[in-house]
Amino acid sequence: MITLLLDDEPFQLKLLEAQLRTLGVGNIIRHERARDALPLFDGDQHVVDLIFCDLQMPDMDGVEFVRHLARNHYSGDLILFSGENERILASVECLAQAHGLRVLGALKKPVSMERLKELIDLSLSSPESTPPAARGQSAYSLPVLESAYATEELEAAISGKQFVNHYQPRVEMATGRVIGAETLVRWEHPQDGLVMPDRFIPNLEYYGLIDDLTRIVLSDALEQTRVWRKLGWNLQISINMSTESLSAIRFADFVIGELGKVDIPGSSLLLEVPANIFEQDQRGLLDILTRLRLRQIGLSIHDFGIAEVSLAELQTIPVDELKVDRTLVRDARDDASLRLRVRNSLGTAKQLGVTAAAEGVETRADWDFLAASDCDIAQGYFIARPMPAADFPGWAAEWEAGQGRELDLAGPSDPESQTST
Ligand code: C2E
Ligand code: CA
Repeated sequence: MITLLLDDEPFQLKLLEAQLRTLGVGNIIRHERARDALPLFDGDQHVVDLIFCDLQMPDMDGVEFVRHLARNHYSGDLILFSGENERILASVECLAQAHGLRVLGALKKPVSMERLKELIDLSLSSPESTPPAARGQSAYSLPVLESAYATEELEAAISGKQFVNHYQPRVEMATGRVIGAETLVRWEHPQDGLVMPDRFIPNLEYYGLIDDLTRIVLSDALEQTRVWRKLGWNLQISINMSTESLSAIRFADFVIGELGKVDIPGSSLLLEVPANIFEQDQRGLLDILTRLRLRQIGLSIHDFGIAEVSLAELQTIPVDELKVDRTLVRDARDDASLRLRVRNSLGTAKQLGVTAAAEGVETRADWDFLAASDCDIAQGYFIARPMPAADFPGWAAEWEAGQGRELDLAGPSDPESQTST
C-alpha cells in the first residue's frame, strides 16, 4: 500500500508521517504542493492507494485536488484533514463523495492517534477491487456536485448583489403572537434560479467570503426591520452567523454601527450561532459578546440539543436563547427517548433563565408537544415557510386574524415552492 500525504506545512507533514509510521504504515510519499503530486495520477494505473489531503494549500486547494482525482478516476481511499471547522470538512467530504470518490473520513488537526488508527484499519479492510461508483455510500448525488460554486462566481454574486433575504416568522406559543422573524438568505442565481443557503454557505465559509455575505444580510435585515417598525411592527430580527464572522475582530463595531444607522435598539436583534461557539478561544469571543451584550443584542444557540453542551459551558458566555434544532424536533416525532431529549433541552433553557425555542415545527402535533414542554417560541412550516419581505405583512395579518394554524402551508401559494432546493 502506498500512502500520499499532502500538506503545505512541513511540520504537519512530518508529524502525520511519524504518527502513521507508529501505526505500521510504510511506503509514504510526502508533498507540500498538490501540483507536484498530480503526475502520480496520470494514466490508468495509479500507484497510490490512500491519500491524506489537507484542505487549505496555497497552490491548489483541497477542492481543486479532489476534482483532479475525480477526473483521473482515482479509485483508492481518501482522508481529508484540516485545521478548519468541521462544517467545512463535512462539505468537502460531501463534494468528494458526490464525485464518486471513496472518502474514509475527515480529520481535524491536530490529528488524534485513535481516530487515525480507526481510519487506517478501515482503509486496510476496504475492497480494493470494487470500483468507487459501486462502493460509494454517498447519500448525495448531483445537487451536491452542482453546489460547488467556484470562488469567482461567489465573489461576483456578492459584488452583483444577487443575494436576497427571506424571513420566517417566530411565534410566541402562549399567545400565538408573531414576535420575530429569522432571516434566511437565498441566492438569486442568474441561471440556476433561487438557490438555497446549504448550497453556497459552506463554500463561502471555505473561501473566506462569509463575512462579506454576513454584512449584506445583516444590513438588509436591519433596513427591513426599520421599515416594519415604521409600520408599527416591533419584530425581533434573527440573523444566522458563522462562528468565524462572530469572532472577527471588527464584527462588534460593524453591528453596532449598522444598528446606529437605522436607529434600532439592540434588543431587536438576535444573532444565531451554532453550538461549536463553545470550542472557540473564549477570551477573544467574550470580549466581542460583552460589547454586543452592552447594547442588548441577543445571542441564540440555534442547533441546540444535537451537540453535547454542558450547563457549565453554557454559563461561560451570555446566551439569551436556546433553540432546539429542527432535526431533533423531526426525529422526536417517532422516538420517545428523543422527545425526552427535546424536553430536557427546553428545560435547560428554563434552568438558565433564557428563552426556550424550537424550529422545524411542521405539524399540529409538534406544536402541541412543544407547548406542553414549556417551549416559549416556535418556528416552522406549521406556522409559515420563509418568505420574501413583501409577503410578510399579508401573511401576518392572516395569522393574527386567527386563520394561521388552519392554513394549507404546503399549497401552491407557498412563495418558496417554485424554487430549486
Ligand atoms: P438554520 O439556521 O437551521 O435555519 C433553519 C432552516 O430550516 C432553514 O433552511 C429553514 O427554511 C428550514 N425550516 C424552517 N422551518 C422548517 C420546518 O418546519 N421543517 C423543515 N424541514 N425545515 C424548516 P434554509 O433556509 O435552507 O437554511 C439552511 C441553513 O443555511 C440555515 O439553517 C443556516 O444555518 C444557513 N443560513 C441561512 N441564511 C444564512 C446566513 O445569512 N448566514 C449564514 N452564515 N448562514 C445562513
Ligand atoms: Ca438559524
